[in-house]
Amino acid sequence: MYKNSKVAVIIAAAGRGRRLGSNVPKQYLKIGGEYVIAKTIKAFEDIDEIDYIFVVTNEDYTRMCAEIVDERGFSKVEGIVPGGSRRQDSVYNALQEINARKPGVSMVLIHDGARPFIEKNVILNVLEETENTGAAVACVAMKNSVRMMEAGGQASKSVDRTDYYSVQTPQGFRKSMLIDAYDRAYDDDFEGTDDASIVERAGYDIAIVDGDYGNIKITTKEDLPMENRVGTGFDVHQLTEGRKLILGGVDIPYDRGLLGHSDADVLVHAVMDALLGAAALGDIGKHFPDSDDQYKGISSLKLLAQVKKLLEENYYNIGNIDVTLIAQRPKISPYIDEMRDNLSEVLALDRTRINIKGTTTEKLGFTGREEGIACEAVCSIYR
Ligand code: MG
Repeated sequence: MYKNSKVAVIIAAAGRGRRLGSNVPKQYLKIGGEYVIAKTIKAFEDIDEIDYIFVVTNEDYTRMCAEIVDERGFSKVEGIVPGGSRRQDSVYNALQEINARKPGVSMVLIHDGARPFIEKNVILNVLEETENTGAAVACVAMKNSVRMMEAGGQASKSVDRTDYYSVQTPQGFRKSMLIDAYDRAYDDDFEGTDDASIVERAGYDIAIVDGDYGNIKITTKEDLPMENRVGTGFDVHQLTEGRKLILGGVDIPYDRGLLGHSDADVLVHAVMDALLGAAALGDIGKHFPDSDDQYKGISSLKLLAQVKKLLEENYYNIGNIDVTLIAQRPKISPYIDEMRDNLSEVLALDRTRINIKGTTTEKLGFTGREEGIACEAVCSIYR
């Protein structure tokens, strides 16, 4: 309840998000582990002045939306309404539902499901001005200079940008005004670009209130905040006679090799553990146990390919990898380029994102005594 008005919010989430180049509509993608739509609903659920929430969603996602609402215990969600073919049809469906289910509502806010970063103060600005004037829209001043096309695109002139605002949501309206405007738009077959344009056409004034530059609508992949993570890996294998020395997938001529269940490629093992660690997917022992015969003598590059697949299944991309191999002998510098090429090929990662370097421990410790070789790796991943 805002002052004396019962307030309903329509969250317009029926879009199919084709512009994002994803099969999943943007409002059903996750940011920081939570669905965009859930973040948007929560912003309104948490505000005392809001009484009811109606979510309009396309029919393929009605069940998923209901589950999301249920799991999070959003108690103000009164209806999940199937969307229409255009945005205005979706909003109209929700308006009918509000009228039927909550006739006492006198103020309606409409908000894009793909604007999850909406702040409380913007919602309250819109409520206050809607209460005062009947129709209010959150807007921000234009930051960029603006030009207008002239002579059919042959010329252009600069215009005073202080006269122009970018429109956001929420857009708030007295319910009677909104229904009148929508009825008239349908009578005249008018299609508006947003709710304010429909209400304006019916002869009502629209007030502008302060929006927020952070209140973006997620439209393209670039709008999704990136989740960056890092991981570390460390591995040691014993040097022994009668084994090949495989490092970074390269068979290095040497009088001894590393002992292990697979090809004992200590470098690739450290890289795999770093990648799995960054994604919180455990370690190589969990995915490729040495009790399992299918991994006996296997090239570790094949296991690395499986780790890459696991990352992909969890939507992660690799940012970079940095590796330090700790060995007294042999010198690895002649083989570094080939190792980088191997990792680059298996991970489909540009070699400028892969660094491999060697160090000794000045003849100290087990690596210094040439009893074994150790390797550590750090990586970054993102999604
Ligand atoms: Mg190992």
